[in-house]
Amino acid sequence: MGYNPENYRKIREEYESKPQRARDAAKRRADELHERFETVAQIDRVLAETGPRILGEALKGREGLDDRIARLRAENEELRKMRAQILEANGYPADYSSVKYECPKCSDTGYVGVEMCDCLKKRLILAGYESSGIGKLIATQSFETFDLEKCRGSERQYENMKKILSVCRSYADTFEAGNGRNLLFMGTTGLGKTHLSTSIAKVVIERGYDVVYDTFQNILNDFEQERFGRSTEPSERKRGYYSCDLLIIDDLGAELTNQFTISVLYNLINTRLNNSAPMIINTNLLVKEMRERYNDRVTSRLYGEFESYMFFGEDMRIKKNLS
Ligand SMILES: [Zn+2]
Repeated sequence: MGYNPENYRKIREEYESKPQRARDAAKRRADELHERFETVAQIDRVLAETGPRILGEALKGREGLDDRIARLRAENEELRKMRAQILEANGYPADYSSVKYECPKCSDTGYVGVEMCDCLKKRLILAGYESSGIGKLIATQSFETFDLEKCRGSERQYENMKKILSVCRSYADTFEAGNGRNLLFMGTTGLGKTHLSTSIAKVVIERGYDVVYDTFQNILNDFEQERFGRSTEPSERKRGYYSCDLLIIDDLGAELTNQFTISVLYNLINTRLNNSAPMIINTNLLVKEMRERYNDRVTSRLYGEFESYMFFGEDMRIKKNLS
């Protein structure tokens, strides 16, 4: 489990001030009531003294203590009723000045006991969509919107896609950080490689993992920024390419390939493989083109360490360890 650390830091910070903001807002509403209704102000002063009054009763001795405390509670109950009546008679809800947390389950702390509250998880997931780079894609590209029937060009294509779809679903459902399971999606554009990798990303983010998704060209741009001294510190995003739980590289092969791009690719893949950090790579290149374009070090890593799936008419699952 590893939500994006930057998101986690920001959202935790926000949560730290959240309960106090809810209490401050309640205090402002109480002040408003006290100003308008003197009786309410008096009642609230008495109610606020409940703790010290109970203590005072206890200090008077044990004899009849239970009865005295019960009496005090009954008085308070009467006062609360009276207070509610005054408010309602003046058009206020009875709980007007109560503290209203956005999430009553965790009182806006983000945790219920030691468990992370659903509200915090949801925030982290939404932030995860954005920081992953698939924020916009997710709206239209998920398992729910993947239409297998559109792959009925031929029966073999249909069966192939059905198999790939089930591999993708199970990959997403059983994903674990550091499980070292890598997928290579090959085939021409428009056959669902991006759609299915986005679908996987969505599920994996929802399961609480940190996902980074981008085209290889954009990834290269980040490395080039640094190479040409335009940025001195590795960007948050660049750090993410190495440290995220799942890295999805889209459109490998669309870049202008040279020594620099090959070394970026090799270092990235190799570092992640050494850390058993999972990757999904999409490419329009065919096996032969791949070998021509990249060196053996890259292709042997790709074919040796990735499960390859061919997106197109023929059922062309390229077996692992093909090289
Ligand atoms: Zn909550």
